[in-house]
Amino acid sequence: MVLVDTHCHLGSRQFDGDRNEVINRMLSAGVSKALVICCSDHDLDAVKDQRDLVPGFRLACSVHPQDLEDDSSPARIVKLREDVLRNRADAVGETGLDYYSHPHTKQAQKRFFEAQLEMAADLGLPVNIHSRRAAADTLETLKKYPVKGIIHSYSGSYEMAELFIKLGYRISFGASILFKGAKKPAAVIARLPEQSLLLETDAPYQSPVPGRRHEPADILAIYEAVSRIRGVSLDELAAQLEENWESVFQNS
Ligand SMILES: [Zn+2]
Repeated sequence: MVLVDTHCHLGSRQFDGDRNEVINRMLSAGVSKALVICCSDHDLDAVKDQRDLVPGFRLACSVHPQDLEDDSSPARIVKLREDVLRNRADAVGETGLDYYSHPHTKQAQKRFFEAQLEMAADLGLPVNIHSRRAAADTLETLKKYPVKGIIHSYSGSYEMAELFIKLGYRISFGASILFKGAKKPAAVIARLPEQSLLLETDAPYQSPVPGRRHEPADILAIYEAVSRIRGVSLDELAAQLEENWESVFQNS
Protein backbone atom coordinates (compact mmCIF):
# COMPACT_ATOMS: atom_id res chain seq x y z
CA MET A 1 0.00 0.00 0.00
CA VAL A 2 1.34 3.39 -1.03
CA LEU A 3 0.40 6.46 0.99
CA VAL A 4 0.84 9.92 -0.53
CA ASP A 5 1.57 13.11 1.40
CA THR A 6 0.61 15.85 -1.04
CA HIS A 7 2.10 18.68 1.02
CA CYS A 8 5.06 18.50 3.37
CA HIS A 9 8.01 20.76 4.15
CA LEU A 10 10.78 18.18 4.50
CA GLY A 11 13.37 20.89 3.99
CA SER A 12 12.19 22.81 7.06
CA ARG A 13 14.76 23.77 9.68
CA GLN A 14 12.71 21.72 12.13
CA PHE A 15 14.01 18.60 10.34
CA ASP A 16 17.65 19.71 10.11
CA GLY A 17 18.70 17.53 13.05
CA ASP A 18 17.18 14.26 11.86
CA ARG A 19 15.92 14.60 8.27
CA ASN A 20 17.15 11.16 7.22
CA GLU A 21 15.43 9.48 10.15
CA VAL A 22 12.21 11.35 9.35
CA ILE A 23 12.42 10.15 5.74
CA ASN A 24 13.18 6.59 6.84
CA ARG A 25 10.17 6.59 9.19
CA MET A 26 8.06 7.98 6.37
CA LEU A 27 9.13 5.27 3.92
CA SER A 28 8.69 2.53 6.55
CA ALA A 29 5.13 3.75 7.08
CA GLY A 30 4.46 3.37 3.34
CA VAL A 31 4.53 7.10 2.58
CA SER A 32 6.66 6.68 -0.53
CA LYS A 33 5.14 9.50 -2.58
CA ALA A 34 5.06 13.14 -1.57
CA LEU A 35 5.08 16.69 -2.79
CA VAL A 36 7.97 18.39 -1.03
CA ILE A 37 7.26 22.10 -0.78
CA CYS A 38 10.24 24.47 -0.88
CA CYS A 39 9.65 28.16 -0.17
CA SER A 40 13.22 29.18 0.71
CA ASP A 41 16.82 28.54 -0.34
CA HIS A 42 17.38 26.65 2.89
CA ASP A 43 14.48 24.27 2.27
CA LEU A 44 15.41 23.70 -1.35
CA ASP A 45 19.09 23.03 -0.57
CA ALA A 46 18.08 20.58 2.16
CA VAL A 47 15.93 18.39 -0.08
CA LYS A 48 16.88 18.83 -3.71
CA ASP A 49 19.04 15.70 -3.70
CA GLN A 50 16.44 13.61 -1.86
CA ARG A 51 14.29 13.47 -4.94
CA ASP A 52 16.93 11.46 -6.77
CA LEU A 53 17.15 9.06 -3.83
CA VAL A 54 13.41 8.56 -3.40
CA PRO A 55 11.70 8.23 -6.80
CA GLY A 56 8.28 9.02 -5.36
CA PHE A 57 9.28 12.47 -4.15
CA ARG A 58 8.25 15.41 -6.25
CA LEU A 59 9.49 18.92 -5.75
CA ALA A 60 7.53 22.17 -5.64
CA CYS A 61 9.09 25.65 -5.40
CA SER A 62 7.44 28.96 -4.69
CA VAL A 63 7.42 32.30 -2.98
CA HIS A 64 5.01 31.77 -0.06
CA PRO A 65 2.20 34.33 0.38
CA GLN A 66 3.25 34.83 4.03
CA ASP A 67 6.78 35.73 2.98
CA LEU A 68 6.38 39.09 1.22
CA GLU A 69 6.90 41.48 4.10
CA ASP A 70 10.61 42.11 3.61
CA ASP A 71 10.96 41.72 -0.13
CA SER A 72 8.24 41.83 -2.75
CA SER A 73 10.45 42.86 -5.66
CA PRO A 74 9.99 41.29 -9.11
CA ALA A 75 13.55 39.90 -8.82
CA ARG A 76 12.14 37.16 -6.59
CA ILE A 77 10.00 35.85 -9.43
CA VAL A 78 13.00 35.83 -11.76
CA LYS A 79 14.96 33.84 -9.19
CA LEU A 80 12.05 31.47 -8.59
CA ARG A 81 11.86 30.66 -12.29
CA GLU A 82 15.57 29.87 -12.27
CA ASP A 83 15.14 27.61 -9.23
CA VAL A 84 12.21 25.81 -10.83
CA LEU A 85 14.13 25.17 -14.05
CA ARG A 86 17.49 24.34 -12.49
CA ASN A 87 15.94 21.85 -10.07
CA ARG A 88 13.41 20.46 -12.55
CA ALA A 89 10.60 21.21 -10.12
CA ASP A 90 7.42 19.19 -10.64
CA ALA A 91 5.07 21.94 -9.47
CA VAL A 92 4.84 25.59 -8.47
CA GLY A 93 3.69 26.03 -4.88
CA GLU A 94 2.63 26.70 -2.39
CA THR A 95 1.31 29.94 -3.80
CA GLY A 96 -1.90 31.81 -3.13
CA LEU A 97 -3.55 34.29 -0.83
CA ASP A 98 -3.51 34.53 2.95
CA TYR A 99 -5.80 37.30 4.17
CA TYR A 100 -5.97 35.69 7.60
CA SER A 101 -2.36 35.92 8.75
CA HIS A 102 -1.07 38.63 6.39
CA PRO A 103 -3.89 41.02 5.41
CA HIS A 104 -1.37 43.89 5.21
CA THR A 105 0.49 42.37 2.22
CA LYS A 106 -2.66 41.66 0.21
CA GLN A 107 -1.61 43.62 -2.87
CA ALA A 108 1.84 42.00 -3.06
CA GLN A 109 0.26 38.58 -2.52
CA LYS A 110 -2.03 39.12 -5.49
CA ARG A 111 0.89 40.11 -7.72
CA PHE A 112 3.00 37.15 -6.68
CA PHE A 113 0.09 34.73 -6.98
CA GLU A 114 -0.62 35.83 -10.55
CA ALA A 115 3.05 35.77 -11.52
CA GLN A 116 3.41 32.22 -10.21
CA LEU A 117 0.25 31.03 -11.98
CA GLU A 118 1.55 32.57 -15.18
CA MET A 119 4.88 30.79 -14.68
CA ALA A 120 3.12 27.45 -14.09
CA ALA A 121 0.98 27.92 -17.20
CA ASP A 122 4.05 28.83 -19.24
CA LEU A 123 6.09 25.86 -18.02
CA GLY A 124 3.18 23.40 -18.08
CA LEU A 125 3.42 22.64 -14.37
CA PRO A 126 0.64 22.01 -11.83
CA VAL A 127 0.26 24.31 -8.81
CA ASN A 128 -0.23 23.82 -5.08
CA ILE A 129 -2.57 26.46 -3.67
CA HIS A 130 -2.57 28.10 -0.23
CA SER A 131 -5.80 30.01 0.50
CA ARG A 132 -6.89 31.38 3.86
CA ARG A 133 -9.91 33.66 4.23
CA ALA A 134 -9.49 34.37 0.53
CA ALA A 135 -11.55 31.69 -1.22
CA ALA A 136 -13.47 34.03 -3.54
CA ASP A 137 -10.35 35.92 -4.69
CA THR A 138 -8.43 32.65 -5.04
CA LEU A 139 -11.15 31.19 -7.24
CA GLU A 140 -11.43 34.28 -9.43
CA THR A 141 -7.64 34.39 -9.89
CA LEU A 142 -7.36 30.69 -10.75
CA LYS A 143 -10.05 31.11 -13.42
CA LYS A 144 -7.71 33.35 -15.39
CA TYR A 145 -4.94 30.78 -15.87
CA PRO A 146 -5.00 27.46 -17.72
CA VAL A 147 -3.41 25.50 -14.87
CA LYS A 148 -4.49 22.62 -12.66
CA GLY A 149 -3.36 21.39 -9.31
CA ILE A 150 -4.16 20.93 -5.67
CA ILE A 151 -5.96 23.11 -3.14
CA HIS A 152 -3.89 22.57 0.00
CA SER A 153 -5.28 22.17 3.53
CA TYR A 154 -8.87 22.78 2.49
CA SER A 155 -11.31 23.93 5.14
CA GLY A 156 -14.11 25.54 3.13
CA SER A 157 -17.61 24.52 2.11
CA TYR A 158 -18.64 21.71 -0.21
CA GLU A 159 -20.07 24.25 -2.65
CA MET A 160 -16.75 26.12 -2.89
CA ALA A 161 -14.87 22.82 -3.31
CA GLU A 162 -17.13 22.00 -6.26
CA LEU A 163 -16.15 25.27 -7.94
CA PHE A 164 -12.43 24.49 -7.55
CA ILE A 165 -13.02 20.97 -8.88
CA LYS A 166 -14.77 22.39 -11.95
CA LEU A 167 -11.59 24.33 -12.72
CA GLY A 168 -9.55 21.13 -12.61
CA TYR A 169 -8.31 21.20 -9.02
CA ARG A 170 -8.16 18.41 -6.48
CA ILE A 171 -8.92 19.09 -2.83
CA SER A 172 -6.41 18.11 -0.16
CA PHE A 173 -7.23 17.75 3.54
CA GLY A 174 -4.87 17.71 6.49
CA ALA A 175 -4.88 16.73 10.16
CA SER A 176 -7.64 19.21 11.03
CA ILE A 177 -10.09 16.38 10.36
CA LEU A 178 -8.64 14.55 13.37
CA PHE A 179 -9.73 17.22 15.82
CA LYS A 180 -12.75 16.46 17.92
CA GLY A 181 -15.77 18.29 16.58
CA ALA A 182 -14.27 18.59 13.08
CA LYS A 183 -17.68 18.00 11.54
CA LYS A 184 -17.41 20.46 8.66
CA PRO A 185 -14.39 18.95 6.85
CA ALA A 186 -15.74 15.45 7.53
CA ALA A 187 -19.03 16.37 5.87
CA VAL A 188 -17.17 17.74 2.84
CA ILE A 189 -14.92 14.66 2.64
CA ALA A 190 -17.94 12.35 2.80
CA ARG A 191 -19.56 13.99 -0.26
CA LEU A 192 -16.52 14.71 -2.43
CA PRO A 193 -16.16 12.76 -5.71
CA GLU A 194 -13.52 10.08 -5.12
CA GLN A 195 -11.30 11.36 -7.94
CA SER A 196 -11.06 14.80 -6.31
CA LEU A 197 -9.73 13.85 -2.89
CA LEU A 198 -6.14 14.05 -1.63
CA LEU A 199 -4.51 14.06 1.83
CA GLU A 200 -1.50 15.79 3.37
CA THR A 201 0.32 16.50 6.62
CA ASP A 202 1.82 19.98 5.98
CA ALA A 203 4.61 18.65 8.24
CA PRO A 204 6.24 19.96 10.38
CA TYR A 205 3.16 22.19 10.76
CA GLN A 206 -0.47 21.41 11.61
CA SER A 207 0.30 18.66 14.10
CA PRO A 208 -2.82 17.12 15.62
CA VAL A 209 -0.90 16.83 18.92
CA PRO A 210 -0.10 20.26 20.41
CA GLY A 211 3.62 20.82 20.93
CA ARG A 212 4.65 17.84 18.84
CA ARG A 213 6.29 18.18 15.43
CA HIS A 214 4.22 16.76 12.62
CA GLU A 215 5.87 14.19 10.33
CA PRO A 216 4.86 12.73 6.96
CA ALA A 217 4.70 9.26 8.59
CA ASP A 218 1.77 10.56 10.65
CA ILE A 219 -0.42 10.69 7.56
CA LEU A 220 -1.58 7.14 8.26
CA ALA A 221 -3.91 8.52 10.98
CA ILE A 222 -5.46 10.90 8.43
CA TYR A 223 -5.96 8.05 5.94
CA GLU A 224 -7.60 5.94 8.66
CA ALA A 225 -10.00 8.74 9.60
CA VAL A 226 -10.96 9.31 5.96
CA SER A 227 -11.46 5.60 5.34
CA ARG A 228 -13.96 5.60 8.24
CA ILE A 229 -15.69 8.78 7.03
CA ARG A 230 -16.12 7.43 3.49
CA GLY A 231 -16.80 3.83 4.49
CA VAL A 232 -14.08 2.35 2.29
CA SER A 233 -11.17 0.11 3.21
CA LEU A 234 -7.75 1.61 3.73
CA ASP A 235 -6.41 -0.30 0.71
CA GLU A 236 -9.17 0.97 -1.53
CA LEU A 237 -8.69 4.53 -0.34
CA ALA A 238 -4.92 4.35 -0.81
CA ALA A 239 -5.26 3.02 -4.36
CA GLN A 240 -7.73 5.77 -5.28
CA LEU A 241 -5.64 8.57 -3.79
CA GLU A 242 -2.50 7.31 -5.51
CA GLU A 243 -4.34 7.42 -8.82
CA ASN A 244 -5.60 10.94 -8.04
CA TRP A 245 -2.08 12.03 -7.20
CA GLU A 246 -0.55 10.64 -10.39
CA SER A 247 -3.21 12.30 -12.51
CA VAL A 248 -2.20 15.74 -11.15
CA PHE A 249 1.11 15.32 -12.97
CA GLN A 250 -0.17 13.80 -16.19
CA ASN A 251 0.09 15.93 -19.32
CA SER A 252 2.28 18.37 -17.49
ZN1 LIG B 1 2.61 24.33 3.75
